[in-house]
Amino acid sequence: MKSTKELLREKRDGREWTTDEMAWFVDGLVNNSVSAPQVAAFLMAACTRGLTSEETASLTLAMARSGDMVAKGLSTRPVIDKHSTGGVGDKTSLLLAPLAAVCGLAVPMISGRGLGHTGGTLDKLESVVGFNVNLTMDQMSELLREHHMFMAGQTPNLVPADRITYSLRDVTGTVESISLMTASILSKKLAENLDGLVMNMTVGRGAFLTTLEESQKLAESMQSICKLVGLPVTFVFSRMDRPLGRAVGNWLEMVEAEAALAGVGSRDLVGITSELVIQMLLLADAGLSPEAARELVAQAWRSGAAHQEFHAMIARQGGNWSASMEKYATCPYTDIASTSAGYMPDIHAREVAIAAMQAGAGRLVESDVIDHAAGTVFFVAPGDPVEAGQPLARVYAQDAERLGLFAHTMQTMLKTATAPVERKPSVLIDVWKS
Ligand code: URA
Repeated sequence: MKSTKELLREKRDGREWTTDEMAWFVDGLVNNSVSAPQVAAFLMAACTRGLTSEETASLTLAMARSGDMVAKGLSTRPVIDKHSTGGVGDKTSLLLAPLAAVCGLAVPMISGRGLGHTGGTLDKLESVVGFNVNLTMDQMSELLREHHMFMAGQTPNLVPADRITYSLRDVTGTVESISLMTASILSKKLAENLDGLVMNMTVGRGAFLTTLEESQKLAESMQSICKLVGLPVTFVFSRMDRPLGRAVGNWLEMVEAEAALAGVGSRDLVGITSELVIQMLLLADAGLSPEAARELVAQAWRSGAAHQEFHAMIARQGGNWSASMEKYATCPYTDIASTSAGYMPDIHAREVAIAAMQAGAGRLVESDVIDHAAGTVFFVAPGDPVEAGQPLARVYAQDAERLGLFAHTMQTMLKTATAPVERKPSVLIDVWKS
């Protein structure tokens, strides 16, 4: 095999790597014979030059096999997961896992941390006092066997190649690559040994891929790999121009998810979460009608069973909800008020996410420690009429200077509109079945 340096020179110049070379490189990045700067160089070359579909497939499979895999047959139920290509205020996983479990599925949810400007499910879960996302493979297996779900991060030995590349991509500007996203997402899902996967393909200014065309290309890339390995997959395309729901920020999103499961959720969040669970149920049971699936989900929601399961899941994984409520109750905040009568303006998802990240809700560099309390809650939806002085949003941060800056940015962003902005009835765009 050529040296890593030589392989990287060739990749820089656009030479296609063979399956063996890709597997060798992935092995090396896991066993440290390939250094972090070399991995970063590969990521940048992959991003700027692109990888062929064969390279993407060999990267995905090598990453999936880079560590342990969840064993097959742990749950008696169909094992179905959902993954999102990322967004702002995207807390659907937090609602969806308990809903799907109550509806009779097994959900081994392995999630990531914040990536680029988007939030990560793990960071949200870790805002709950005591919640343990670092489960061992034995703990994951037991939870899946006994309770049909868990929500966790990668163990040191579960898709270690993605753990390493994910954090490097986050800080090297190499997130937005169809091939790297395909490999990152599918390597984790293949290691879960699923019976089916629902992919939420987010599209818009708050997503990594801003156009439907790009998002469809990513779906096609993933579809061909799922076909290769025989994994049934459904793609749900949804708009991500504005934050999903009302909250952006780790703890704030946990609170919003909990309230939504208790029956107090915004239409966009409830709508897309229900659609994703419905598609999971349809993947699990080809004989189920869409109407029956919709009714199952509505019942899990209405009866309070999914809300109960949310709290049970938190307790099983060591979380303490009431201690968390107490902990965050004292977080400093500032209200952003309307300066004149008119309409709530449009909310630019990416700009809000970046402002929240600067306030501490996300990482600017890999070593940053997150302020789990930081973030914002909108009181009014875009297009709603507002009066002068009416509170539009509340911004939170533990650090006074960051809070001041965040409030200033948000005040500038939320200039009252003189006419109602357009509002679509749902964020759902399209569903592709394989
Ligand atoms: N989610 C992932 O797990 N990986 C990506 O690259 C993007 C979203």
